[in-house]
Amino acid sequence: MTVYLVGAGPGDPGLLTARALELIAAADVIVYDRLIPASALEGARPDATLIYAGKEGGGASMPQSEISELLVSHGVSARIVVRLKGGDPFVFGRGGEEAEALRQAGVPFEVVPGVTAGVAAPAYAGIPVTHRDEASAVAFVTGHEDPSKPSSVLDWGALAAFPGTLVFYMGVRQLPLIASRLVDGGRASSEAAAVIERGTLPDQRVVTGTLETIASVAADAAVRAPALVVVGSVVGLRERLAWFESRPLAGITVAVTRARAQASGLASRLADLGAAVIEAPAIRIVPLDGPAPSLADYDLVCLTSPNGVRLLFARLAAAGLDARALAGARVAAIGPGTASALRSFGVIADVVPSERFVAEGLVDALAGVDVRRALVARAAGARDVLPDALRSRGAEVDVLALYETVASPLTQDQLAAVQDADYVTFTSSSTVRFFLESAGAVAGRSRARMVSIGPVTSATLREHRLEPDVEATRHDIDGLIDALVADAASR
Ligand code: SAH
Repeated sequence: MTVYLVGAGPGDPGLLTARALELIAAADVIVYDRLIPASALEGARPDATLIYAGKEGGGASMPQSEISELLVSHGVSARIVVRLKGGDPFVFGRGGEEAEALRQAGVPFEVVPGVTAGVAAPAYAGIPVTHRDEASAVAFVTGHEDPSKPSSVLDWGALAAFPGTLVFYMGVRQLPLIASRLVDGGRASSEAAAVIERGTLPDQRVVTGTLETIASVAADAAVRAPALVVVGSVVGLRERLAWFESRPLAGITVAVTRARAQASGLASRLADLGAAVIEAPAIRIVPLDGPAPSLADYDLVCLTSPNGVRLLFARLAAAGLDARALAGARVAAIGPGTASALRSFGVIADVVPSERFVAEGLVDALAGVDVRRALVARAAGARDVLPDALRSRGAEVDVLALYETVASPLTQDQLAAVQDADYVTFTSSSTVRFFLESAGAVAGRSRARMVSIGPVTSATLREHRLEPDVEATRHDIDGLIDALVADAASR
């Protein structure tokens, strides 16, 4: 019974506020615009009604009256309605009009401010909109209206005389007129100006010039909406303060082929380093049904993936058991990721290889460990290196298949994005096999560099006549990221 007018920030999902995420997760209905972060709706309830009301940035859009009616009608019938808008809802977002319509209809509403593009995009471009020495004021201006019309609502003389930074929203198309009106109004033609396209997003572009040159500079660079125009001496600070472009993977597109549930860690780490990440989950984890194993029968329990850990504990939980079921056994993890998954369930692994996080590494790490009965809990169809080695040492070994990995077809959009990627990452042999099943032709055509987590995955790539360009020396996610960053730096 409340409509929340929520700002979603300028595009970087990290700039969604805590309150926005909370409301998205709770909403019955979400009415959203085009300029919201692509991942903003991922946290919505699966049963939430999502309504696209794309209106920003031209193109066919729902008339404002219709959007307001929609908010009123859902506001009356649903408990939590989120009206999700790019940036801040009250900064050139027509949020004020929507609030008025709600008030008029007697529908309760709240406003959740967002990070507005006019501050965030300059910040990501290394341009502080105010600065003690450069600008003591900042004006947010719409560049949308046609400044050649006599009925202009903007007072260009006053804007030209404004003692501070000018930030124009929606102004790319009118850039030549904006620049000339300001100069006509008395602003120095040598004044610094910048245009920031897709600010805060991985493919953010910035061009700079002066009021005299900026229109042609932007035209030469074919700058497109969404973009902001910043006018003022603060633009000069970018030379010293640019930071976004200097992150290790800035400007680089990386495709991640792991299953969605596992990909988020890798994807977010790559994004933090500046990469544009394409999630191309060619595999999906399907848990296998079965009873909880009787862990008291074993003196060694081996886990070979974080998924295995999660699903073993799911089986235990279903049987009313918890970490104490492992009390009598030594617990071995194939690598730090698996060990960390165990830790999240309250179990500290007794044995973890210090390097080579593959079955062979675990076999070595277990060399001095006395084993009579072992359980290897893992994916169906995994290699038998570990059980075979333990058996050859005289142990009795049971293998418990907790899940299978199955192919998950990629969409045309995902395939197209993969084709243009700079890197494709493979974190296991099964990601290679399933990715090639789904994207074989594309992988052949792509100029992307293939990144493999280790020798086993590399061998599988070679079996498919693809040569890994980069192989991690440490066979875990950190190692893969290090290898990719080093390769990017060397090119
Ligand atoms: N309410 C939004 C603004 C909506 S108007 C806010 O507070 O940010 C839409 C205009 O905002 C676009 O035409 C563009 O000028 C600007 N804009 C929005 N997102 C942007 C981004 N990521 N980079 C540059 N400009 C952006």
